[in-house]
Amino acid sequence: MRPVKLALVGLGKIARDQHIPAINSSDEFELVAAASPSSKLDGVRNFPSIAELFEAIPEVAAVALCTPPQVRYETARYALERGRHVLLEKPPGVTVGEIQELAELALHHGVTLFASWHSRHAPAIEPARAWLMGRKIDKVTITWKEDVRVWHPGQRWIWQAGGLGVFDPGINALSILTYIIPGTFRLCAADLSYPENCETPIAARLLMAGPRGVLTAMELDFLHEGAACWDIAFETDAGRLQLSKGGRYLHLDDRPLPTSDCTEYASLYAHFADLVRERRLDVDITPLQIVADAFLSGRRIPVAAFTG
Ligand code: NAP
Repeated sequence: MRPVKLALVGLGKIARDQHIPAINSSDEFELVAAASPSSKLDGVRNFPSIAELFEAIPEVAAVALCTPPQVRYETARYALERGRHVLLEKPPGVTVGEIQELAELALHHGVTLFASWHSRHAPAIEPARAWLMGRKIDKVTITWKEDVRVWHPGQRWIWQAGGLGVFDPGINALSILTYIIPGTFRLCAADLSYPENCETPIAARLLMAGPRGVLTAMELDFLHEGAACWDIAFETDAGRLQLSKGGRYLHLDDRPLPTSDCTEYASLYAHFADLVRERRLDVDITPLQIVADAFLSGRRIPVAAFTG
């Protein structure tokens, strides 16, 4: 089969760090163009907007949207209405409703919509899911802490409404949790710390009741100095299973367990290729729903202004 002609929309950190290398090493996609307001990519045709891109290269069949989430809905809608397959970076949007509407649009136009969650493709996720299946899980502890000044320098959109603040990385943990333990996680309590000059939280604590009575505690911190900590620990009747480094490593009672040799974005694009071939949707809003519930019911704690 000939590769699917694909364009990137948004040429920031994640497009350059992950999407471009993954697309270039895929036999199933050919990167032919990019649209970004000011950035440009060598070796392909560049446009300031998706409208100008489609006008100039109508044979583009798929787009990967790597913009900040606040502008993703309009761009996705534009592409779906014109019969293009769409991959959304995480989080898929800024409201639950807009994702549901995009899914309906994709179905209506007979094209693929992939609301991707890259952390679900990390090497230790499938082994962790398989190991936990059928085991009794007593408690889950998520610790997701990083220095926003190191990982998101100059990204103003994170602090603006819809940018999610500390939930921008935190939703990765929720995407892993809800994949490994399918079912409903009911939010019991949330404390959200808002700097006085920001529209989104800089730290958060959540308590959830999960399926099979799994109590889940989550701690997020954007002001954590030193090495980032992206860990999830599962206390079970057969020991303590620990995912670390965002799903890269797996330990059982401190003993390492084997993981797969896949890389996140190569696996993500392989899945997108399957979806496009079969004209299917993969749209799971569960992680975004939990964040929405935290914003809906969480206690707001004012903290010192953030200086980036
Ligand atoms: P970023 O570095 O700030 O890049 C955002 C890019 O989007 C910029 O290139 C910007 O354009 C472009 N853009 C803004 N408005 C646009 C519009 N209306 N149309 C087209 N392009 C537009 O952000 P990022 O870190 O790459 O994050 C983007 C998304 O990926 C976020 O949802 C984030 O959660 C997710 N993500 C990020 C990481 C990471 O490690 N950074 C990891 C996984 C997922 P110009 O450069 O042309 O001005």
